[in-house]
Amino acid sequence: MAEIIVRNKDKKETEAVKKVSETAKKAEPAAKKAAETTVKKAETAKKPQTIVTPNKPTGGSTIGLRIGAVVLWVLALAFEILAILAITKDFTIRFTNNGNTNLWIILIGCIVLDLACCILAAQLWKKANHIHPMSEKRGKFLFYLWNELGVVMVCICFLPLIILLLKNKKLDGKMKTIVTIVAAAAMLIAGFVSADPHPISAEQQEAAEQQVTTDVYWTQFGHKYHVYDDCGAIKNSNTLYKGPVLEAIESGRTAMCSFCANRAEKDGMNLSGLNVEGRAAEENEDAPASEAELPINTQAVPTVTGGN
Ligand SMILES: [Zn+2]
Repeated sequence: MAEIIVRNKDKKETEAVKKVSETAKKAEPAAKKAAETTVKKAETAKKPQTIVTPNKPTGGSTIGLRIGAVVLWVLALAFEILAILAITKDFTIRFTNNGNTNLWIILIGCIVLDLACCILAAQLWKKANHIHPMSEKRGKFLFYLWNELGVVMVCICFLPLIILLLKNKKLDGKMKTIVTIVAAAAMLIAGFVSADPHPISAEQQEAAEQQVTTDVYWTQFGHKYHVYDDCGAIKNSNTLYKGPVLEAIESGRTAMCSFCANRAEKDGMNLSGLNVEGRAAEENEDAPASEAELPINTQAVPTVTGGN
């Protein structure tokens, strides 16, 4: 409700202000009703928002996904080795009268197939990590390496070829330049697509499963899930997906939306240990610890006065 602060002592003005506030008060219920009807109208008008509940089983074995990823990475590596052999061994000349054209096809073809295998492998790997995430207890380095294995493999499947291309003196200048650029571009694309910017740990997944007991919502794109279907961040989305939180995580929505998190906290939801958008995982655990350490640190200051 709007508050009116009267600083002027003039009675006439205060009376005028009173009148204004009274008319405003009278107008308020009407305005409320109007607002309510517009909200209702908007709700009925916005019905084309369809909520999809994908009915697939969550969890299950990830061995198939991981084997698929490894097989594809081995294939990617094979295409890189083939390209390297084509450059260093001149074996293309054996296949045709016009060896040079063949070298173009083999090099570009190998790079494209290398790229495709790397991208596909990383998607399978990321999917497996979202179904069965790694525990944070194994250490930050291993956790990072496991989740970003796709990027590591992209480097292995492209860097040696690019270095060889740059060092090579047998290829003609035009071919060397173009193939190097294509390989570098392929490496950047593959690296970008293979990275997992929103990994989740086994601990965070477990916390989500235990603490987010109602169905959650997510959109076609993005990496967040929402606790409330009327969250401002998703109210304009045409299609909403609805399901248990594990399903959202499996689909790559690994973090809870920050708006929903604030609201859920007020509604009494326990968010400790959860992966929430914009909140560091250790934030909650570290804050009291560092505060507790402060007095200890001040005590620990050595008093080196009065030596001799
Ligand atoms: Zn939300």
